[in-house]
Parts: sequence; structure tokens; C-alpha cells
Amino acid sequence: MSQNAAAATAGPVSPDDVAGLRAAVTGPVLDPADAAYAAECATYNLAQPTAPAVVVGATSAEDVAHAVTFATRHGLAVAVKNAGHQVVPSVGESSLLITTTRLTGVEVDESARTLRVGAGVRWHEALAAAAKAGLAPLAGSTPGVGVVGYTLGGGLSPLLGRAHGYAADHVRWIEVVTADGVIRTVTPDDEPELFWALLGGKGNFGVVTRIEFTAVELTAFYGGGLWFPGEDMAEVLEVWRTWAPALPETASTSFAVQRLPQDDALPAPLRGAFVLHVRFSHLGDAAEAEELLAPLRAAGTPVLDSIAPRPVPDIGAIHVDPVDPLPYVETGFGLREFSVETLAALVEAVGPGSDCPLVTVEVRALGGALDREPGTPNAVPSRGLPYVTFAFGVAAPPDLPFMDEHLAKYAAALSPWTDPRNVVNFIAPDEAVSEAEVRRLYGAERYHRLAAAKRRWDPDNVFRRNHNIRPSSAPAGD
Ligand SMILES: Cc1cc2nc3c(=O)[nH]c(=O)nc-3n(C[C@H](O)[C@H](O)[C@H](O)COP(=O)(O)OP(=O)(O)OC[C@H]3O[C@@H](n4cnc5c(N)ncnc54)[C@H](O)[C@@H]3O)c2cc1C
Repeated sequence: MSQNAAAATAGPVSPDDVAGLRAAVTGPVLDPADAAYAAECATYNLAQPTAPAVVVGATSAEDVAHAVTFATRHGLAVAVKNAGHQVVPSVGESSLLITTTRLTGVEVDESARTLRVGAGVRWHEALAAAAKAGLAPLAGSTPGVGVVGYTLGGGLSPLLGRAHGYAADHVRWIEVVTADGVIRTVTPDDEPELFWALLGGKGNFGVVTRIEFTAVELTAFYGGGLWFPGEDMAEVLEVWRTWAPALPETASTSFAVQRLPQDDALPAPLRGAFVLHVRFSHLGDAAEAEELLAPLRAAGTPVLDSIAPRPVPDIGAIHVDPVDPLPYVETGFGLREFSVETLAALVEAVGPGSDCPLVTVEVRALGGALDREPGTPNAVPSRGLPYVTFAFGVAAPPDLPFMDEHLAKYAAALSPWTDPRNVVNFIAPDEAVSEAEVRRLYGAERYHRLAAAKRRWDPDNVFRRNHNIRPSSAPAGD
């Protein structure tokens, strides 16, 4: 019998059961008949709706514990959602969804350089609170993303990653509700294996309710984007290809080939435009940064240049990701090199002569501190990976299969350079689904260790609505 089947023997959920849960929990407990259910289940990706049997809007770790206990009793898989940027498919009637948005609160300790945040906090709140104390946490490209989900998936910062590693490397303790319904404070000293597994294993080991992590003393950076005409991408990227790996760890860069919509919210030169968006950030003064940027500036003539001195909470200006929810399909994978041949394949697949309709095809250069194991190791699997690529296509849901075809075409074009490692946060809902794929992502040794931790902490695989680490060595597809 599979682990999932074993957990599913407890029986269906009746209205009385839901009423019992409502009585135990302080926050809202909603089923599909409730008017507030749809809003509580809403996701950033409109093509990945969730429709759980029950959704619990947790207001405390105790609420989360009641919800987890209820789910295990009724054989429901537990899914978790905060800002909804990476909800996995199949959060359906055999699932209980816990939303963490009400677990608010950011406490900053200026002298210890730490932030303590609830599982409902998004990066823009943490960035603003930290900035008041002259601190910068290792936030990602989009301040609307949730802090906890991001950090459990490693957390790749386009500003601080190359100088300071992954966000996960800075975590001091984690408050988590494990599958047995117990609220635990996990530190590297008291539960080292669970601490290691949570940071990189993401939602596989429990529902995190609070974390504490250290931040960096920093108030400002120099950065933004240069948008070149898409037709010039081959020439500009030929420079980027050798320029990016030579940058010091204080500088970070990525690029995105973009076919942007006719959207009045965009600056005029970008509306409906085909562009190459080169992103850049530097932890230092403008003169140093401009010296580093000089070869790239000489590579072409941008249609827009937003590179400027900025306060740290302005981190979203580096990538300028879409803010509002939209329907999309995506793919993300590691690249072991970005050679002349890789560039030629990229230009052929998504360049000016291609039929590529994808909104964004992005490549981030990694390296620096992202390659180094932190003092307290964790399960982040992407160390040593030089590049990661992420692409997405936006369309009305009936047209998304067409975008999927183009994502597959892009992945096939770059397949000679694909690396099995990946940034966990960039795994699409339909990727790393089988055990073989998840094992490949983590590598055999790390997966083996994660599976052992899963057997210890979630033997019935209650937390399986994710890129699932199986407690048993059940065959792929089980
Ligand atoms: C536009 C955009 C830009 C991004 N940029 C970056 C980037 O620069 N760097 C980077 O590393 N990532 C980036 N990401 C990925 C992002 O970090 C992940 O999608 C992250 O998980 C989102 O968290 P959320 O709260 O927004 O999403 P949610 O969908 O609410 O959560 C995503 C998943 O995280 C897990 N999770 C969330 N909260 C908890 C919890 N309390 N306990 C246990 N598990 C939990 C669950 O598995 C859940 O399914 C980006 C994503 C988008 C859409």
C-alpha cells in the first residue's frame, strides 16, 4: 500500500466534522459553500486554482496545529499558501489548505541584526521594517512574494545572493507544526536533521509559523535594468556571456528576453515591445558600479535605462516582475554553462527570427557565496550551479497548451546544457512531480537524507502537495 493510501483510510469529512474544526480554530474555516472561500483560496497564477475540501485561515500556531491534526484524522493532504506564488496543482477535494496570511508581524532586533517574521509576511513588509534599522534581508526579485515559502525554497536574492548566499543560510530558528500536530521550535542544535531538511526541502516537513534570520547592514545599492532592442540580443549577450562570470561577488546580473504586452502601466518604450532586459545590481558606490557596467553599456544602445542609486526596499526595480495575478505556465531549470553554443541555441529558440510567444525567458548568473556551504549546512540543492533559467508564457487558460509547447521547445533547445540541479523556488507546478524527478533535483545522497528525515517527521506523507519527498522508496508515480 502506498503512503498516500495509508493516510487516506480515515474517512470523509462531514459538515459536523467541519463544524468541530470551526469550534476549535480562531480563524475562519471555510468550505466550498462559503462566500469567502474563493478569495481565501486565490493564487497569483490564475491558471492554478485551488479547490480544497476545507480551507483554514490560521491566526496562530495553535490554529495550524488543529488544522494539521484534523487533516491527518480525515486522510486529507495538507497544502499551505501565503502569497500564492507557487501553489502546486491538485489542491483539490482530498486536501486541506492552510492559509498563513493572518500570521503577521515583523520584529527587528537592530543590535542582533535579526528579523523574526510570521508566516503571513511578504518581503515588502520585511524590507520596510528592516530598512528602519539600516538592515537588508536577503529578499528576492518580487517584494510581493512570501518570506517563509521563499526562504524554505532556498531564497535566491538578485541583490545579496552572490555576496551572502541563500536566504536559507541565514535562518536561526524555525517554528513549525509537524505532521503529529506538535508546535516545535527547531534550531540547528536541538533538531539538526529537521532544521537541515526544512531549509531546501520546503513544504515537505511541516507548516512553518515563524522564522528568525539574520540580515545584512545595508541601506542602499546601485542598480536597475537596461532594456535593449530585442533585435540586438545576440550582440549584447555575446558581451554579457563573458562579462557576467567576471563580475565581483558584490555585483549580480541576469537577463530576460521579453515580449511585453501593450500595457499602459509599462514605460512607453516597453509597451508591446520585444526587448532584452539586462538586470544589474551592485553593493557599492555609483562610480565603481559604472566602471563594472562599462563593457555592457558599450554593447548596444538601450531603449530604456533605469540604473540608479536606490534604497534597499526598491529591490523590485531590478527585475520589474509582474505584480498582479495572471494566468501562466512556466518552466525553470539549471544550466551548467552559458557558452557560445548555448547563446546561439538561445537566440535561435527565442530570438528575433523565432516564433517564440513567451513573455519572459530569463537567465540568472549565480556563483559567489551561492556556491559555498553555510556554517550550518542545509538541504538547498543548487550550490555550484552557475546559471538558472526561468521562462513563462501568459494566455487565457484555453490557450495555455500553446505556451506549454513553446516552453518545451525552449527546454529542448537548451537541453545540451541542462544541469539536474535547480533552484527549488523555480520549480513549476508540473515539474519535479515524480519521485525520480525530485531525486534528480536533489541528487541521490541529499534525497536519501531528506527521505530519512521525511520518514521520521512525516511518515504518512501528510505534506505531499509539493515537489514531494517520499517517506518510502516507493516507485516513481506512486
Ligand atoms: C514573479 C516571481 C518572482 C520570483 N522571484 C524569486 C526570486 O528572486 N528568488 C527566489 O528564490 N524565488 C523567487 N520566486 C519564487 C518564490 O520564492 C516562491 O514561489 C515562493 O515559494 C513564493 O512564496 P509565496 O508565499 O509567495 O507562495 P505560496 O504559493 O503561498 O507558497 C509556495 C509554497 O511554499 C511553501 N510554503 C509557503 N509557506 C509555507 C509555510 N508557512 N510552511 C511550509 N511551507 C510553506 C509551500 O510548499 C507552498 O506551496 C519568484 C516567484 C514569482 C512568481
